[in-house]
Amino acid sequence: MKTLGKMKYALAFLFVLLAANFLVAQKVREGSAPDGMKNVPNGDGSAAAVAAGPTGQAVVTGNGINYNGGPVLKGTVPIYIIWYGNWNGTGSNTAATRTIIETLIGGLSNSGYEKINSTYGDATGNVSGAMTLVKEVFDSGSQGTRLRNSRISSAISAQLTSGNLPTDASGVYLFLTSSDVKESGFCTQFCGFHTRQTLNGADIKWAFIGNVDQCPSGCEAQTTGPNSTAGSGGGADGMANVIAHETEEAISDPDLNAWFDSSGQENADKCNFRFGTTSTAANGSHFNQTLGGLNFLLQMNWENSRGGGCDQTLGGTFQ
Ligand SMILES: [Zn+2]
Repeated sequence: MKTLGKMKYALAFLFVLLAANFLVAQKVREGSAPDGMKNVPNGDGSAAAVAAGPTGQAVVTGNGINYNGGPVLKGTVPIYIIWYGNWNGTGSNTAATRTIIETLIGGLSNSGYEKINSTYGDATGNVSGAMTLVKEVFDSGSQGTRLRNSRISSAISAQLTSGNLPTDASGVYLFLTSSDVKESGFCTQFCGFHTRQTLNGADIKWAFIGNVDQCPSGCEAQTTGPNSTAGSGGGADGMANVIAHETEEAISDPDLNAWFDSSGQENADKCNFRFGTTSTAANGSHFNQTLGGLNFLLQMNWENSRGGGCDQTLGGTFQ
């Protein structure tokens, strides 16, 4: 019958709408870029197809990573930290780790290492390689010690709606958890990830990085790092490496639609847990960067020039 026919049509249309919504949601979930266990193989980018960038703009392609049309974060990127869990604890869950990470952020800004990221751009300009730590807040465990992404979203959202942290679509929010906090997939599938989400009405870019002392074998390059003190483990140094990785990606691919290769690998993914040549610190650990007066062992980043490759500093030797 006519009415029934209409209804069938309407139902079919509703189904298509629902299916489309489901795919969008799924894509967003997949879009959060999980990162890097030590043994995840890296793409070399050599076979990557090259997407043409807008002509006459700041976008440079042909270096093993593709431009997909989205924006990058430009200017001095504001960094916000949410220290989640118990950061007045033992091991590496301490103020010493907080200081090391603060030094890292300050030291990364405008470093030769961070300038590798300035080879990425969009239609209106390039990444600057500058960042600044604007504000840090604590959350001793509003969402408990067993997290999943929705709980992290709630915790970040609470900081924004309360005004504890500014709601800043041009910044990157680092959600750093103490080693007693579990996050679904952390230490088994990834060491950190970054994503974007509409929170408090803005397009918020956030990254999860756990204290990798929860899984040194999967997520730490070395159990004693250059900044380890007796009994502190390599957590701070291991987190520094993952933070470098996630901030590079959150800045060059903030909305998950700018820079990645044909395998979906973002710039830091292409050099995951690859450090290049290192020096040896007094405590026997290895390092390849000195930032803010501290030594760090940070993975290399993919330089989008000279054909593309992993290096430790802009214009350095591909390794
Ligand atoms: Zn990554």
